[in-house]
Amino acid sequence: MLSADAVKNMLIAVADTVIANEDILGEADRQLGDGDHGIGMTKGFTAAKAQLEALEPTSVSQVFTTTGMALMSTMGGASGAVFGMMFQSGGMAIASAEGLDAATLSTFLEASAQGVMNIGKAKPGDKTMVDALVPAQAAAANVKDGTIAEALAAAAEGARVGMEKSKDMIAQHGRARTLGEKCIGHPDAGAVSVSIIFKRMSEFAAA
Ligand code: ADP
Ligand code: MG
Repeated sequence: MLSADAVKNMLIAVADTVIANEDILGEADRQLGDGDHGIGMTKGFTAAKAQLEALEPTSVSQVFTTTGMALMSTMGGASGAVFGMMFQSGGMAIASAEGLDAATLSTFLEASAQGVMNIGKAKPGDKTMVDALVPAQAAAANVKDGTIAEALAAAAEGARVGMEKSKDMIAQHGRARTLGEKCIGHPDAGAVSVSIIFKRMSEFAAA
């Protein structure tokens, strides 16, 4: 089980990795959107990192909701709302958790995916970050009885496979929607972000 302090350090590591991937995220968005996804995520995770560093966490829930609120208030737009909600809805669902274990992660991800779909109205298959987040949730749910490292490894693999599958989808939201079949072959930029986020969490838990 990861303590609140460990989850704080894990999310700071996630922030550093997202920031380091700014160009890759920007390039992914350039293929289908306006190319600003790397800039937006860097802005959001720079703010989240600063708030996390200043936080003396009392719960894992608080670590996630602090991250979500920082993203939401600094990124703006649809992506700020959905990436903010990913952490905030999940965090709120585990308010009583004493640490992050596999079962808690599963509860977190269920609420996270639901919160994102409620606010953004995207469904699986619409070529958004939901297409990485929902498979991450499904994969983690299968490892509820495992260790947190196993559950995060499953979530990371689910997100990666979902991100790959988003290449074959035709976008139903945002600017990419006007591209129709020209979308095919490129992954959704937000799905790339979700995949990077869970990969880093998994590496943290395995270390
Ligand atoms: P913008 O779309 O304002 O340029 P970004 O480029 O930062 O913002 O983010 C785009 C990403 O946000 C998309 O690749 C997609 O994954 C995600 N996204 C946008 N709108 C939605 C939505 N309604 N539901 C889920 N995800 C969304
Ligand atoms: Mg964009």
